[in-house]
Amino acid sequence: MSPVFDGKSIKNWVGTFTDIDDQKKVEIEKDEFLSIASHELKTPLTSIKAYMQLLERKLKINEENAESSYVTKALAQVEKLNSLITDLLDVSKIDNGKLKINKKRANLDNVINNAIDTIIQTHDNKVKITRHGFIPDMLIPLDEIRIEQVLINFLTNAIKYSPSNNQIIVSTFVDENEVKVSVTDFGIGIPDFKQDAVFKKFYRVEESSLQFQGMGIGLYICSEIIQQHDGTIGLSSVVDEGSTFYFTLPLN
Ligand code: ADP
Repeated sequence: MSPVFDGKSIKNWVGTFTDIDDQKKVEIEKDEFLSIASHELKTPLTSIKAYMQLLERKLKINEENAESSYVTKALAQVEKLNSLITDLLDVSKIDNGKLKINKKRANLDNVINNAIDTIIQTHDNKVKITRHGFIPDMLIPLDEIRIEQVLINFLTNAIKYSPSNNQIIVSTFVDENEVKVSVTDFGIGIPDFKQDAVFKKFYRVEESSLQFQGMGIGLYICSEIIQQHDGTIGLSSVVDEGSTFYFTLPLN
C-alpha cells in the first residue's frame, strides 16, 4: 500500500496484488531448458569436431583434393555451431549468476591486437581494420579471454551489419581514470529509439532481422562482461551511416 499525496496531505491510498506465480515458473523452466540443452549439445559437437580434424589431416596428407576441401568447409560450420552453443551456455551462466570473470593485470593492447588478428584470419583479408589512438605500455586488471570475446563480438557485428563497406576503425583513448575502446563501422546503423535495447537478452532490431542471421545475445553477454569489470558499454549510431560501439574499463 502506498499513499498518493496532494501537496502535503494524503489524497488516497493505492495498492496492487498480481499473481505472477505461473509467469515466474515458465521463466525458470525456460532458463533450465536453455542450460540443459546447451550443455547436452556441446559434448557430441566437441567429439564431432575432433574426428573431423583427424579426417582433415588424413585427407590432406595426399595433396589438396575435393574431399579435404569439403571437410574444411564442414569444420568451419562446426566452428560456427560451436560458438552459437557457447553463447547460449554463457546466457544460461548469466541467468544463474555463474558467469565468472578472472581479472589479472594484463596488456590491453595485446588483447586488442589478438582480437583483430582473429577477425582478419577468419575473414580472408576481406575487411580493412585501422587502429587509432595509443595505449601507453601499462597493465590493466581484466579478464583477457572475456575482453577479447567482447572485441570479437563488436568486430563481427561491425562486419555483419555493414554489407557494403568493409572498413572498420578501432580507437582507444586513455585518461587518468579509464581506458575507452571503440569499434566504428560504416554500415546500416541503428535507429535512435532502439539503441538502448540492443543490450537486452534476445533483442534484435526488427528492420534488419530478416536480412541478417543471429540470436540477439552477443551484446547482452558483452554488457554483462563489462559490468563485471565495473566498466561501461554503449553506442552511438546514425541510420545508413554507421555505428560506434564502445566500452570503458577502470584503470585501477
Ligand atoms: P545478433 O547480431 O546475433 O542479432 P547481438 O546481440 O550481437 O545479436 O546484436 C543485437 C542487435 O543489435 C542485432 O540484431 C542488430 O539488430 C543490432 N546491431 C548490433 N551491432 C550492430 C551494428 N554494428 N550495426 C547495426 N546494428 C547492429
